[in-house]
Amino acid sequence: MRLTAEIDPRSGFCHGVVRAVEQAENYLKYSSRLYSLGAIVHNSVELERLKQKGLEILSIDDVGQLHDDVILVRAHGEPPETYELARRNNLQVIDCTCPVVLKLQERVRDTWQRLHPEGGQVVIFGKKGHAEVNGLVGQTGGEAIVVSNDADLDQIDFTRPVALFSQTTKDPDEFHHIAGRIRERRPDAEVYDTICRQVVQRHQSLVEFARSHSVILFVSGRESSNGKVLYELCRSVNPRTYRVENASQIDLAWLQEGDNVGICGATSTPKWQLEEIFIYLQRLAGEPSDNNNQ
Ligand code: SF4
Repeated sequence: MRLTAEIDPRSGFCHGVVRAVEQAENYLKYSSRLYSLGAIVHNSVELERLKQKGLEILSIDDVGQLHDDVILVRAHGEPPETYELARRNNLQVIDCTCPVVLKLQERVRDTWQRLHPEGGQVVIFGKKGHAEVNGLVGQTGGEAIVVSNDADLDQIDFTRPVALFSQTTKDPDEFHHIAGRIRERRPDAEVYDTICRQVVQRHQSLVEFARSHSVILFVSGRESSNGKVLYELCRSVNPRTYRVENASQIDLAWLQEGDNVGICGATSTPKWQLEEIFIYLQRLAGEPSDNNNQ
């Protein structure tokens, strides 16, 4: 089949995930096992690779049963109770909380301490139950209000002060929409755009990338919330966008003669996974697989 392919140069793990995976791999050079509290990355293929090296994923309930061991806290971060549990059970923590998330946790905590005595509310725009959101809500003793759409705004008491933050991987346009809705009902609401700059830049560059290719293969785990957002973004500008986790999921009916295929992914998609898709397409095009991107 006649086609060309290109990997989005800006796709691949974000800094926070790179750092967590590197720390896990470094530890596993000297130990046969490491417990991660929750999936270190929302990507089953990458998780399987790390599992082969000795990474085991535990729930918070499992961690409650552990004593005198080592656990890894992933880039999403954790609420203060997790660190208390680790102290009680004499667990050493390899803390891979992304520095951007750590800073956000501090801001949420400081704002809560300032607003709470005067009846103020901290609102988080994010996905209920997401690990990063749980870590943020934990900074407010569980009192922060999590909103993900207009209907959720009814949980807020607009007669009292409001401060709005965002989960780091949310869609910037959706955040600005929610902020606008809150300001309509409480003009002095404090609005902090805490979406990660890497995510914002990726939104901007992905739009260009998706527009400039005839078909897009978006590579990401089904559980990745950043993956869902970025896949929808690509699809909104290029209807021929398809989401896959690996090359075996590519349906050849998606491709046409002469296509210029763009390969991109979420912040939880490693570069090697994009390269596997690229090599598969090169083989399909009958080209040697050791070529660089076109
Ligand atoms: S998306 Fe940004 S904030 Fe979230 S882990 Fe990656 S670098 Fe950190």
